[in-house]
Amino acid sequence: MFRIVAERLKQRYRTLDWPRKEPALSPRYRGRPLLADADCGSCRACYAACPAGALLPRPEAPGRTPVLDMGRCIFCGACQDVCPAGAIRFSRDYRVAAASRGALLVRPEAALPGAKDAERTCADAAAVIGSRFRLFRRSLKLRQVSAGGCNACEADSNVLGTLVYDLGRFGIEFTASPRHADGLLVTGPVTRNMRAALLDTWAAVPRPRVLVAVGACAISGGLFRESADCLGGLGGASGENAAGLTTAGLTPDIYVPGCPPNPWSILAGLLALRGQGAGSR
Ligand code: SF4
Ligand code: SF4
Repeated sequence: MFRIVAERLKQRYRTLDWPRKEPALSPRYRGRPLLADADCGSCRACYAACPAGALLPRPEAPGRTPVLDMGRCIFCGACQDVCPAGAIRFSRDYRVAAASRGALLVRPEAALPGAKDAERTCADAAAVIGSRFRLFRRSLKLRQVSAGGCNACEADSNVLGTLVYDLGRFGIEFTASPRHADGLLVTGPVTRNMRAALLDTWAAVPRPRVLVAVGACAISGGLFRESADCLGGLGGASGENAAGLTTAGLTPDIYVPGCPPNPWSILAGLLALRGQGAGSR
């Protein structure tokens, strides 16, 4: 007994006092991308380097920096590495969740924004969602559905239950049954085989309910969006994938981009869903 108490005193309190205290992120971490509106001329290096088709040309500004779709981006950093103009940079801001698909499109700005501006996506999400889900402010139960993902998004969601993050202190928990849940947290590109299970699980969640898309796959199909066996994520923009399969047709209330998203991004997104900026509890 004495040894247990001694060990407890030695270990002390390991849960990070977030959001009051910022987490220590890996030096290799890439957060919200920042784009400067540069004259690219005929350079197509970033398009060629991107494995995810996440860079979208701007018809209104040909030959200039593209738009970056965080809903497709896997945050590999290849575009930043090859850009000779230094027009693409990844900040260390992990608050990347957004309340709409359109808000995941990062548009070039006249100059690379400063650190304060780089923090706005999650704050915007909380403002857009506002009091819609105020009901869940103190208690939010989620059922996780892995709709064909590689398991990395699931792992980064699961780790929120460990003592460093301590998801439970925010009143957020994962449940075993959709009947006991206030919503779904979906990962994976929604494979053909998982479509019916996903829709059945969604139908079993009592209203009002929330839908959380975690990871590039769940948002857009990610690296698998052109596969004939995937539906292109939850709300596939085209409504149909290459094989003519209809998408799941579910519209997320919050989108957490990344491949996989950092656990702090998921946590900040869940708070934003309840209208709580990352700076409040
Ligand atoms: S960081 Fe994103 S946009 Fe850039 S090359 Fe990788 S996937 Fe493409
Ligand atoms: S978004 Fe990336 S990490 Fe998440 S399931 Fe898809 S491939 Fe895996």
